[in-house]
Amino acid sequence: MSAALLEVRDLRKHFPVRRGLFSRVVGQVRAVDGVSLDVGAGETLGLVGESGCGKTTAGRAILRLIEPTSGSVRFEGTELTTLAPREMRALRRRIQIVFQDPYSSLNPRLTVGSMIGEALAIHRIARGAAARARVAELLLSVGLAPDHAGRYAHEFSGGQRQRIGIARALAVEPRLIVLDEPVSALDVSIQAQIVNLLQELQQRLGLAYLFVAHDLAVVEHISDRVAVMYLGRIVETAGRDAIYAGPLHPYTQSLLSAVPVADPARRKPRIVLPGEAPSPAHPPGGCHFHPRCFLAQRSGVAMARCRTEAPQLREAAPGHQVACHLA
Ligand code: SF4
Repeated sequence: MSAALLEVRDLRKHFPVRRGLFSRVVGQVRAVDGVSLDVGAGETLGLVGESGCGKTTAGRAILRLIEPTSGSVRFEGTELTTLAPREMRALRRRIQIVFQDPYSSLNPRLTVGSMIGEALAIHRIARGAAARARVAELLLSVGLAPDHAGRYAHEFSGGQRQRIGIARALAVEPRLIVLDEPVSALDVSIQAQIVNLLQELQQRLGLAYLFVAHDLAVVEHISDRVAVMYLGRIVETAGRDAIYAGPLHPYTQSLLSAVPVADPARRKPRIVLPGEAPSPAHPPGGCHFHPRCFLAQRSGVAMARCRTEAPQLREAAPGHQVACHLA
């Protein structure tokens, strides 16, 4: 892996659960519960898991769009969690985010040109004619036309709106973009176009991506490395090929068994997990996965340990880490 641009250590985001007339805190939702990850310059880390596993919250806590409860986030060597709001705003030029729903993240009252121009003005990159020229250049770079600058968000299709969201993120020349389910609201045919655009921009501009998604086929296409989250924790992380060819954690195995595979020789039997993922307000003790784990259920001895002792991420092979007592 190239030198780490982003280093996240033991990141936690707990939301208080309040009840009663006086809104007493009666519990905590452990949405992100000790996440550590690195993203190298120019690489893509796919952060995957079912909805509710905490991956979106982790992405937002890294950017401090929501304040982390504890942990460390270092970007280019600077600790972000202790930065003053003004310093954090300045640093957002280097880390941008693209949201799942491009429509709700674009201001309906501003033309596309004003929206992108606003980002250029806030960060004192360009104004006036220079800003207009830069907007035209950015629109071309995401496959739109310069004259789209005069239109409003509602005049575009979903895929075009996501292109506008990407152009706005690129305006400030970031080194890292957090892509929060960037294609999951789009039609399948459009998804491929946006993923191809992201890859082309990455190669041309040397961008790093934290690609947050639940769609494992899309993640396989775009990622260099993959981290799998379950109930607020990373349970497995490895290079893309290693994780897709030989997942070690039973949760990753079950997720990958549900991905459609065209080649019959590569197809594996589907592993259906019992029950729903538990609530992060009441995570099971020990290994969070134990009530649904087919590996532990085969061995009563293992299950006793899995119920009481949380497995730590450990190196199972070079660059391949897994949090499981048995894997
Ligand atoms: Fe299953 Fe135990 Fe491994 Fe957790 S630690 S994944 S319960 S075998």
